Amino acid sequence: MSQERTEGDLRNTGLSLKHDREWDYEIDRIVEAVEERDAETVGLQFPEGLKRRGPAVTDDLRETLPDDVQVMMSGQPCYGACDLDTYMMRRTDVFVHFGHSPMKESDKIIYVPLFSNVDVFPMMERATEEKLASPDEDPDVGLVTTAQHMNKFDEMRSWLEERGYEVHVRKGDDRLTHEGQVLGCNYASADVDADQILYVGGGKFHPLGLAMEHPEKKVVIADPVNNALTIADTEQFMKQRYASVHKAMDAEQWGVIFCTKIGQGRWEKAQEIVENNDDAYLITMDEVTPDRLTNFGMDAYVNTGCPRITTDDGPQFKKPMLTPGEYEIAIGEKPLDSLEFDTFHGTW
Ligand code: SF4
Repeated sequence: MSQERTEGDLRNTGLSLKHDREWDYEIDRIVEAVEERDAETVGLQFPEGLKRRGPAVTDDLRETLPDDVQVMMSGQPCYGACDLDTYMMRRTDVFVHFGHSPMKESDKIIYVPLFSNVDVFPMMERATEEKLASPDEDPDVGLVTTAQHMNKFDEMRSWLEERGYEVHVRKGDDRLTHEGQVLGCNYASADVDADQILYVGGGKFHPLGLAMEHPEKKVVIADPVNNALTIADTEQFMKQRYASVHKAMDAEQWGVIFCTKIGQGRWEKAQEIVENNDDAYLITMDEVTPDRLTNFGMDAYVNTGCPRITTDDGPQFKKPMLTPGEYEIAIGEKPLDSLEFDTFHGTW
């Protein structure tokens, strides 16, 4: 039987999402808040990957809300709960942040987490069969995941326990909302008494940092989104970081970046660097991009904001961009082998 296709139907073209996701945007909760607060303005902030869904969510809200309630979307880049659009937050009666769990609770903000509905268990099955030590060899395993899969965390834990593992979990620190949750800049929840960690989640972004932060542990990546099973390998990453440090060793002028995003500021750290180096200059900015730095013409930069900008986007910058720890190595204050992953703790 032939199936009719409408224009834009991407089924079986390879262009559709691997797992069609039906996110729950919690429209009812937002509408309730509007009614309760007698709100006239609603601000929506989506992470980059979901901005495209913004108009449809706006339509859903417009259909339900009275005509005189204005709904607007934030066009600011957004990569985490550290990155709230504070301008919008101050100027709207209801402010909704989608896709991240709270870094800090506030009555001003409605967080809509948007959990993934991908089935994680087939990948976990493969992980136990192919990569994790069997429970007889080593029963201890740490379990971590990202905010998107947090709704399945208890099930994942029980699933491993039923197969004979002793599952070690902990809630990291203030920056993390849930037990077992990791962020791209914080892996404190993997600080558990187990030599092997099972990371369940999409991409290598998080587990690579995790393996850097806990080099003594084997980090198994069970990625149900891309259907991939691997062991985190930090070699390439380390080489890149050492190359940046080496390039920065001859730098005379340093730009020290203080990020003005609400959850990315490390003021004391930035101040400390500038106070101890007459050739270091403090630069404040929200979005840290190569274009914005070019005109300063410094020899090298230290980023005290999001560590992932430094490590993941670093090669795109024309001049070396280092983490605060790497800076100390480059200026000779610390030995080369002290290089470690830059993590971020606390909130604001
Ligand atoms: S600072 Fe941390 S939470 Fe914020 S975008 Fe960077 S990695 Fe994610």
